Amino acid sequence: MVKTVYVDNAATTAMSDMAIKAMTPYLKEVYGNPSSLHTVGQVAKEALDKAREEVAALIGAKPNEIYFTSGGSEADNQAIRSAAYAGLAKGKKHIISTAFEHHAVLHTLKKLEKEGFEVTYLDVHSHGNITAEEVERAIRPDTALVTVMYANNEVGSVLPIREIGKVCRDKKVIFHTDAVQAVGHIPVNVVEDNVDMLSASAHKFHGPKGVGFLYCRTGVPLKNLIEGGAQERKRRAGTENIAGICAMAAALNEAVENLDKNMKKEAALRDKLISGLSKIPHSKLNGDTKSRLPGNVNMCFEGIEGESLLLLLDAKGICASSGSACTSGSLDPSHVLLSLGLPHEVAHGSLRLSLSEYNTEEEVDYIVAEVPKVVEYLRSISPVWEALEKGEKPHLI
Ligand SMILES: *Cc1c(COP(=O)(O)O)cnc(C)c1O
Repeated sequence: MVKTVYVDNAATTAMSDMAIKAMTPYLKEVYGNPSSLHTVGQVAKEALDKAREEVAALIGAKPNEIYFTSGGSEADNQAIRSAAYAGLAKGKKHIISTAFEHHAVLHTLKKLEKEGFEVTYLDVHSHGNITAEEVERAIRPDTALVTVMYANNEVGSVLPIREIGKVCRDKKVIFHTDAVQAVGHIPVNVVEDNVDMLSASAHKFHGPKGVGFLYCRTGVPLKNLIEGGAQERKRRAGTENIAGICAMAAALNEAVENLDKNMKKEAALRDKLISGLSKIPHSKLNGDTKSRLPGNVNMCFEGIEGESLLLLLDAKGICASSGSACTSGSLDPSHVLLSLGLPHEVAHGSLRLSLSEYNTEEEVDYIVAEVPKVVEYLRSISPVWEALEKGEKPHLI
């Protein structure tokens, strides 16, 4: 059997042993409902309170600023709708975001546009980033919300969140950041970063799927999306996912404790991959080259289809992605790569390798050895590549 080399950690991660260990008691012995008054319920409630304190402390927040959700998508939806409607109540109908947000943000914004909001999508240009000045220039008297991701899930750019947060604070505009790719991967502190709202998801930092949290700063109004019981201080109804929440707290604790070590390890593996794969002729690294997640590699290879590349790599045990898991299955190139100004033909030939601290040097050596062979094979059977080589079409990269 081919050994599995998992380099799709931006899509999801394996759970850590510590996270699994932290969750098991709450699946069996401590199964109480935290809203119950009896002992079994109250023990669960204590665990919930402890997890909230832990998560809060790990991002520089206060416990009552943390709202547990079903994951990053729900947190994004709630933050954006909440801030939009709070703005509307004051006659503000303008929102600022970027062209390369996750679909949980973009699709929520599209819905709000249908409801009468106006959204400015800042261009990310070929360098794969935006500046705080661009945000400042886009702010208007009727701007209700700025929502800009902390780090991009496809191309790995880390955005200037602290500076954008400062601009928003000065202009008194609510600032939300989708930090799903950042929390547990790079240093995040809600106070130093000047953010009002922040979304995170456990399964991106070795916690379980189906659980995440929304940070909402004291004084920033928060509306609930889900009606029902009084859980999460009446902002998110539904019996709490205690096991998932405790596992998330353990996973985040482990990630933050080992942050420096993991970042160094991943960045070294990343740079080895980039330098190895850049030797492939007519290839290109996408995203910000300097301000970049330690675990992200995203490259385009001219003349081939990303999907064929993925299937052949999978046959060699390499689990990668062509961009976002949400766009795979459709043949459209990713909106992220198009937002960087890449032509359709080039954007089609993309490969995202996203690392975690579980990856090894041997795995990276294997990838660097195998990808060029597969690219060469696909080019040998590609009519597009033939036309490029004959000079019938100009090379674009
Ligand atoms: C994965 C991801 C999400 C969605 O999180 P879920 O917990 O899967 O709903 C949102 N934003 C970004 C940037 C992501 O990478």
